[in-house]
Amino acid sequence: GSARQQPFAALHAGSHVKHVIAIVSGKGGVGKSLVTSLMAVQMQRRGLKTAILDADITGPSIPKAFGITDHAKGDENGIYPVTGTAGTKIMSMNLLLEDAAAPVVWRGPVISGAVKQFWTDVIWGDIDYMFIDMPPGTGDVPLTVFQSLPINGILVVTSPQELVSMIVEKALNMSTMMKVPVLGLIENMSYFECPDCHTRHEIFGTGHVQDAADKYGIAHTAKLPIDPQLAAYCDQGKIEDYPTSYLQETAEYVLKTVK
Ligand code: ADP
Repeated sequence: GSARQQPFAALHAGSHVKHVIAIVSGKGGVGKSLVTSLMAVQMQRRGLKTAILDADITGPSIPKAFGITDHAKGDENGIYPVTGTAGTKIMSMNLLLEDAAAPVVWRGPVISGAVKQFWTDVIWGDIDYMFIDMPPGTGDVPLTVFQSLPINGILVVTSPQELVSMIVEKALNMSTMMKVPVLGLIENMSYFECPDCHTRHEIFGTGHVQDAADKYGIAHTAKLPIDPQLAAYCDQGKIEDYPTSYLQETAEYVLKTVK
């Protein structure tokens, strides 16, 4: 049966969010926030109204990659998202708290409550594609977020060091329970391309995304290299300016699948 016992949280009145894509991973540090950011950049570059709801409170990656240092402001109408230089609307716990280290110690129900408020109290306006940087793992917190928000599809991020089948299986269980399709599987830090000879080196060994995708019937896969230049752009808060075609095919797949 379905694990959805409650209705979705109500979206902020006056806002209209057409499509919601969740980015999940088995654990932290595999590049989930980076994939979320790159997906938003791809959609923004296509002139679509794009948003990121940062539900991963364990790190300030999203606001940092977009160079956001302002705090979010609110009034009696709700909370205003902060906008990146290219126009992506962003809401993150780190834009609300004085002390960005605070939420790391929060308990699950507090986190999921806060994420629900990001949906209900944030004045998103009109959004074509919203990307949710989910809390890592497939435990209670991501599950509650899935129950609370009308998510259309999931992208799963892994690294070559992980047991990708196990992560995919867990994500698929969650996806079946929530009746939300897994759209694609993305292997991050898949290889390093030598800037001089352009040879691809599989630093962490050969990944198994394609095998896992075939085994579980996932139609789309993508690989992202370890890219020090990309990391530098993120560190400088300039991810929107990075000239790249990373995840272009994933964006196109999402555009034709979730519409
Ligand atoms: P997660 O959201 O899964 O915890 P992040 O997206 O925050 O992980 O990535 C962790 C760190 O690794 C960040 O500093 C990020 O910039 C860096 N990183 C992730 N993927 C890559 C990559 N493909 N190339 C270079 N740096 C990366």
